[in-house]
Amino acid sequence: MKRELAEAAKDLAAYLRNQDENLAEPPCMGAAKAAPVLSPAVKTTKKAAAPQPAAEKENPPAPAMTPKRPADMDALAEQVKNCRSCGLGGTRLNAVFGVGTYKAKVVFVGEGPGFQEDHKGEPFVGRSGQLLDKILETVLGLKRSDVYIANIVKCHPMKNPADPESHGNDRPPTPDEISACRPYLDEQLRFIKPACIVTLGSVPTKVLLKTDKGISLVRGSAYDYPVEIVPGRPIKVIPTYHPAALLRNPNLKRDTWEDMKMVKAFLETGKIP
Ligand code: SF4
Repeated sequence: MKRELAEAAKDLAAYLRNQDENLAEPPCMGAAKAAPVLSPAVKTTKKAAAPQPAAEKENPPAPAMTPKRPADMDALAEQVKNCRSCGLGGTRLNAVFGVGTYKAKVVFVGEGPGFQEDHKGEPFVGRSGQLLDKILETVLGLKRSDVYIANIVKCHPMKNPADPESHGNDRPPTPDEISACRPYLDEQLRFIKPACIVTLGSVPTKVLLKTDKGISLVRGSAYDYPVEIVPGRPIKVIPTYHPAALLRNPNLKRDTWEDMKMVKAFLETGKIP
């Protein structure tokens, strides 16, 4: 038994070494490669101090995924469709991979699918999705098909997984679920190579910027994504509120509009105002 365990450990170490080497050849599947000089999120504009690292348990490192490397986004979507890497894979109705163009300059990232997304297999549908579409159109002059929209986790986290037909059954993803699913998002980013990521709400902001600060403290500024997706060109991360938060509290609309105007200016000029 001891010998088998030792052999398994050797195999795993060899596999992880192989993944590290492969990271130089995009696209690849595997643990995200941290940008060497970014620590942990580098603020590039405005007033807020750079977020501090979150506790390890809240933001665990992304583990290596399946060794099979997808040739393109469609192959990656197929992997997600068949994924059972965490418990959510056994209870979802549909994996929610993402929607939009693979040539998007901006990628919007939410927390995870809810009831309607699970049923439809598409992110940000329902009232939150309609509001996001409205923001895209009125502030950015873009349609859903002009951008890309995805979530940190691709399957619906439920309080009671035995009852996917009940409303109000949503819960935030656990750190383990985020850790299991996060590599899919970075792989999507490697295929799309956007200029900018907009995180919608606290959970994706904390995860992608490796911070434990809430969205109200982090928004209003742009940061460099602390994972190297395109060598030598950091992707900008612009955090803002989740549309559901705006539906609950319309007073957040003004700040959201300001954030979206920053996105628009960056897409038009390549600079953060
Ligand atoms: S949430 Fe992500 S890691 Fe978990 S089963 Fe779904 S696709 Fe796989």
